[in-house]
Amino acid sequence: MNWMTFRTDRTPRRLRAVSDLRFPAGGREHLRSRYPHLSEDDLVLVETATRQWFRLTARQSGAKLAMPSVVAGELWRELTLHTQDYAAFCDAAFGRLLPHEVASVTASAPLLATLSQGRRDEDCGPTGLPLLFRVDQELRVPDGNRYLADCGGRGECFPVANRVCLQHLGGPGKGPKPRGIRGDLPFNDGRHGYAGGAGGSGGGAEFGSDGGGGDGGGSN
Ligand SMILES: [Zn+2]
Repeated sequence: MNWMTFRTDRTPRRLRAVSDLRFPAGGREHLRSRYPHLSEDDLVLVETATRQWFRLTARQSGAKLAMPSVVAGELWRELTLHTQDYAAFCDAAFGRLLPHEVASVTASAPLLATLSQGRRDEDCGPTGLPLLFRVDQELRVPDGNRYLADCGGRGECFPVANRVCLQHLGGPGKGPKPRGIRGDLPFNDGRHGYAGGAGGSGGGAEFGSDGGGGDGGGSN
């Protein structure tokens, strides 16, 4: 079982490459010009989130993951422009070149895999939102993605405008419904804020959509 040993030894080395990564100054400049409202602390938070993304990828080089954050995706893209440095970093951290890709809502499985890996990475529990899923909202990124750990619906999704409900992303009724956990929800009374009841299609949350477009029907 030599290869097993080999595999397990590889991960710490890859994670070290991620923690040693120094973001180029151009990254912050790019973020500053695109999102002028971000403070220095905010920029550090974007780097932290981007590092989390790289950590997940370093651990899961085989699994398909998806970048959940717009602002971290921007910093990531900036990194890829430094072609040689980026290739060297990818080689050390992932053993392959990681192409820059933007998450798509039509592929919910990679996003959910990322969520589950992120929760493990951050140890934020089965209902928490890892930094990668929080950062756009926390930094009020105008074109960012807003996520909800759970809309509170049972068996079907209660759409909340401009929020992607992760509990029902994989389809209605997927996964056990945790009870009474609200403290870590970014929009913790979303269900009541959305007085209209359940929308038309369960699990049809849209990515950074404008206007939930729930067509009513159903009741609480
Ligand atoms: Zn939902």
